[in-house]
Amino acid sequence: MNWRSLFRPAARLLPSRWLITRGPSDRSAIALTFDDGPLDSTPGCLDVLDELGLRATFFVVGKEVQAHPDLCLEMVGRGHEVAGHGFTHSYFPALEYRALADELARTAELLPPQPFRPLVRPPAGAISPTSLWNTMRSGYTTVLWSLDCFDWRTQDASEIATELEQARAGDILLLHEGSAPTLEALRVAKAAWQRRGLDCVTLSDLCGL
Ligand SMILES: [Zn+2]
Repeated sequence: MNWRSLFRPAARLLPSRWLITRGPSDRSAIALTFDDGPLDSTPGCLDVLDELGLRATFFVVGKEVQAHPDLCLEMVGRGHEVAGHGFTHSYFPALEYRALADELARTAELLPPQPFRPLVRPPAGAISPTSLWNTMRSGYTTVLWSLDCFDWRTQDASEIATELEQARAGDILLLHEGSAPTLEALRVAKAAWQRRGLDCVTLSDLCGL
């Protein structure tokens, strides 16, 4: 066991101002989070979410926001939440403080204003003690997840749906934009969540930010 495998569980004990990995379980709600957009396929994703009555949080890449300037406003306009995922999708632990602060600031300039302390999800969820500290120092709360739905490694909608259906109250679900099987899986999972009385809300709503 190396320090990295010890650090990740230890980091979960940090105050939520530093790091959020899941929400409170005393309310029947979960948070869907989509990484890596906005993309040309984003409007279709927003249509499916509208149709299913689901709210989500989008962790967007700054350079993709530049390439698709109107889509973040559309996300917010449709009741979703938007936060940063780095400007160039770089590995945060490899960045010096100034480079990391620059990634965060360049992305924030392109996003709709956030009413609370800004959130960021590091690409691939990669954190180190130094990158976590530098992110906090820059005024951001790092957000990871409690349930990986593995849509980055499979194109099988039923496999993704099986993961989605495991969600329990308070879970933060990791999903990715641009995956058609993910949207198909959400239709199946939505019915299962509805039977269990689970609502999908934004991450800020789930965590009471
Ligand atoms: Zn990513």
